[in-house]
Amino acid sequence: MLWFTEYYKGEGMELQGTGLSMKVKSSKYLKTPYQELLLLETEDWGKVLVLDGAVQTTERDEFIYHEMISHPALFTFPRQVEKVLVIGGGDGGTVREVLKHQPKEVVMVEIDREVVEICKKEFPSISNGLGDERVKLTFGDGREFVKDKEAEFDLIIVDCSDPIGPSVVLYQEDFYRDCFKALKEDGIFVTQSESPFAQNRVHRQVVRELEKVFPIVRPYLVFIPTYPSGMWSFTIGSKKLDPLGVAPSALGKLYRELIEREGALKYYNPEVHYGAFAIPNFVYREE
Ligand code: SAM
Repeated sequence: MLWFTEYYKGEGMELQGTGLSMKVKSSKYLKTPYQELLLLETEDWGKVLVLDGAVQTTERDEFIYHEMISHPALFTFPRQVEKVLVIGGGDGGTVREVLKHQPKEVVMVEIDREVVEICKKEFPSISNGLGDERVKLTFGDGREFVKDKEAEFDLIIVDCSDPIGPSVVLYQEDFYRDCFKALKEDGIFVTQSESPFAQNRVHRQVVRELEKVFPIVRPYLVFIPTYPSGMWSFTIGSKKLDPLGVAPSALGKLYRELIEREGALKYYNPEVHYGAFAIPNFVYREE
């Protein structure tokens, strides 16, 4: 039996002698023009996608990441969301969740075509939304894509990897400013914002940069067993709508309608919506 270990390292990683190991039944390696890709069949986590040595998606816990990058922002809208932009998100899980809110159009801009091709073939339960007729798949740099966009999207979701390689540009203030411009007047932006435990400085920097751009900034937490330390975060930047300002009765109604239409969710519910925004003291402690 083989074991795969992700050694925690890279830009912003504050754990230097820690990793995560998984028992592996089989593996496939390939080098794309952008990154090293490893597809693992594992004992405990089903199929696993690894990019540049970092676990991205596992069949067993992907629902947590994909529901929580999507639903808190989507349930903040008091109206139908029409046009959503997903940057990165090559496995398709984020698009799958966004489609549950019946948008007219979802544009996904992924830099690495090979990630999408592999995920379509190997992770059908995650990538199944990518073939939907409302989804427009574009291959290219999400940073470049937003530059000339104005008041076009209701929601922009940045589903990217750690700030190394092609993702670095998606962690910068000028990118957040272009996203602000690309959003409609009540638009919402959400990005994955690393582990507040294992990459505390990077997490805080994302929040700080977003605060320079958006009047409402709300980081929130989730539990993801296969990500460094298990504690993960997303951060919402919003022009007008506050995810904590949604009335519980309105949220409850929208939630019940969605699960009646689309089936049960596995992580997100209205209690989780409000609770996820509670942040423990150590995250923003004085240094
Ligand atoms: N959805 C995943 C999960 O479950 O954790 C998150 C990772 S997703 C695979 C990250 C994707 O972002 C990768 O496929 C990578 O190719 C893409 N990406 C990185 N930088 C990018 C950029 N500048 N523009 C567009 N896509 C980018």
